[in-house]
Amino acid sequence: MLKAIRGRLLWYVSDPETEGAAARRYVEDGLLVMRDGLVAASGEAAGLLPMLPEGTPVADHRPHLVTPGFIDAHIHYPQTQVVASFGATLLEWLERYTFVEEQLFADPDHAAAGARFFLDELLRNGTTTASVYCTVHPGSVEALFAESARRGTRMAAGKMMMDRGAPPPLLDTAEGGYRDAKALIGRWHGSGRQLYAISPRFALSSTEAQLAAVGQLVREHPDCLVQTHLSENLREIEAVAALHPADRDYASVYDRFGLLGPRSLLGHCLHLSEEEFELLHARDAVAVFCPTSNTFLGSGLFDWARMRDPRHPIRVAVATDIGGGTSYSMLATMGEAYKVLHLQGQSLTPDAAFHAITRGNAIALGLDHLIGSFEPGRECDAVVLDAGATPSMARRLERVRALEEELFLLTTMGDDRCVAATYVMGEAAHRRG
Ligand SMILES: [Zn+2]
Repeated sequence: MLKAIRGRLLWYVSDPETEGAAARRYVEDGLLVMRDGLVAASGEAAGLLPMLPEGTPVADHRPHLVTPGFIDAHIHYPQTQVVASFGATLLEWLERYTFVEEQLFADPDHAAAGARFFLDELLRNGTTTASVYCTVHPGSVEALFAESARRGTRMAAGKMMMDRGAPPPLLDTAEGGYRDAKALIGRWHGSGRQLYAISPRFALSSTEAQLAAVGQLVREHPDCLVQTHLSENLREIEAVAALHPADRDYASVYDRFGLLGPRSLLGHCLHLSEEEFELLHARDAVAVFCPTSNTFLGSGLFDWARMRDPRHPIRVAVATDIGGGTSYSMLATMGEAYKVLHLQGQSLTPDAAFHAITRGNAIALGLDHLIGSFEPGRECDAVVLDAGATPSMARRLERVRALEEELFLLTTMGDDRCVAATYVMGEAAHRRG
């Protein structure tokens, strides 16, 4: 079944931080042609329209911008009612708010309702793929995957593994956590568009026995993603050092159990030592930048330039980290990222920001052959963006002359209000009211 979307198409074929404007594909009057949910062609409408069979449906989104669906590399679906919890840093925030809320996901109905809200909210924000933390309860993972499968979205998710350092209702065991995760991988990993992410919460919430069990899972399922938190908060880092006195540093704890590799998504990475930079580089692991969470929880500033240091370059992804983060919008997230880098005398160009939330995150998740661009054969997830969505944005837009300015306006002032429509596998999954 052939259909098409018409608008100003924007996607990336390489990294604008190294390739500059050559990395970008932009078609002012573009047509995205889809067959059975996959990109069949993308280019000039004038050239492609005459080739379409009579009666092919064309959704006309001119003059809006159409980009690949956004990808969020780190988000907690059970924390939609934790966002905006006042006055705490990481460890108190977990105890006072998060661990309370996550216990509610023992109830399958609560989990199902949470999953529905969560995916609605992602799609309203133009996010079509995310790497999602569920709770310790296997039912919370079932609920998220079932809802994602129903909508046809490509999601990675996993059961939180934690056998210490939290209230008893949130704890599994080394053996039980392994068994539950293994069963979920069997049921969901590679089922349709769903992917499993092995998800130990962080070094403070797993015993050595559990970290060893996680390592075994990683070895047995090398095609699964691995997601955890690393070096977010100074008190957390001290506690990890006290708990693991024999390990050189925080990253070494994970490395001892084989948890660092090219499919490892490490949330935060704010206070890494030189040795940790070298270790993450050697393992080809991914540091996940969660700017609104890092500023909200007062955790620290992500050093993007240091990740790019040619002596030990580290792959980078970007994410909302709801509910430590404060916005579901990858646009708002990149607005905050710009400020975090600016505070450190660094710059994030509009092209780098849009690359990061599309092709960049697809590469980080090992999915760039499937999503993140409009190259033929990719799964057609797309977002339609209106840079004049609010009166203040429309007024500012009057002075915008170049595409880069429009992109920067979108990340600086934009959010869900700018998302005119979201497509999943070529089907409209959200349309602004
Ligand atoms: Zn997180």
